[in-house]
Amino acid sequence: MKIVILSRKSSLYSTSALVEAGIKAGHEIEVINPLRCYMNITSHNPSIHYKGKRVEGVDAVIPRIGASITFFGTAVVRQFEMMDVYSVNESIAITRSRDKLRSLQLLSRKGIGLPVTGFASSTKFTGDLIDMVGGAPLVVKLIEGTQGIGVVLAENRQAAESVIQAFQGLKANILVQEYINESKGSDIRCFVVGGKVVASMKRTAAGDEFRSNIHRGGSAIPVKITPEERSTAVRAAKIMGLNICGVDLLRSNHGPVVMEVNSSPGLEGIEKATGIDIAAKIITFIEKNAKPGKTKTRGK
Ligand code: ADP
Ligand code: GLU
Repeated sequence: MKIVILSRKSSLYSTSALVEAGIKAGHEIEVINPLRCYMNITSHNPSIHYKGKRVEGVDAVIPRIGASITFFGTAVVRQFEMMDVYSVNESIAITRSRDKLRSLQLLSRKGIGLPVTGFASSTKFTGDLIDMVGGAPLVVKLIEGTQGIGVVLAENRQAAESVIQAFQGLKANILVQEYINESKGSDIRCFVVGGKVVASMKRTAAGDEFRSNIHRGGSAIPVKITPEERSTAVRAAKIMGLNICGVDLLRSNHGPVVMEVNSSPGLEGIEKATGIDIAAKIITFIEKNAKPGKTKTRGK
């Protein structure tokens, strides 16, 4: 098969792991930087061009679209879909996953356990908003943050009010969320491929930090998840419409709660923590599923 990996750099761990796994399985693999693609949006004959040539004969696309290039990156994925090329994650699902509020609304609609979460644009009723999510301590998050940047723990009511007002003063969209203290600075990353959790790790924050992101100094170990956690992760992936994703859970007193679903989950941390060759599993999934006509939405 000819498989295109949409990624800005072939030297990134996740990209090179996928290239290696694809070549090992006997496929032709090309890494294409989505930002360097240009497209012809013509009726009946959509095309993608790269480095002076039309991109042709592609059987499947693996989008590795970073948060900062969501807009153009998903347009390139959509163009592949219009050309009837199978994308392992569809453009609509990627766009959906990039908006934390929209994602939480979709998950809540289907009854997935979530931390109690509030959202507001105006600063008028901050006190009521705080009460609504159960009071301090609480977590305030920038809607479009990643890697734990823009996630703040407000330990008391006064701190919560100040943080909310400061963010809103900057016209930033925020979520206000119940603080899951019992998770003790740890979260669980479930890596889902094709409706199955293929690997899971527990990330624990360093020292006094409450954010367990590896970028914030957190450490990772393999973890055995419960059947409830497994089914929550699988259902969350299905609701988001993602074949490949990382579902982040917190272990709360009221069962597993989903914090976020990541549509371009990194391979390095979880492959190193668990020793599982996730890239190979992604390639196997593509071998079984990449057929013309299988793209559900074609960007619609
Ligand atoms: P990002 O998308 O920037 O990684 P997250 O929402 O995943 O932001 O939050 C970063 C980290 O902060 C999480 O991995 C988790 O350890 C911690 N955290 C986030 N929300 C909560 C919460 N409601 N209760 C407890 N810890 C939280
Ligand atoms: N109608 C679109 C769909 O079903 C978007 C819905 C959504 O993601 O909120 O894919």
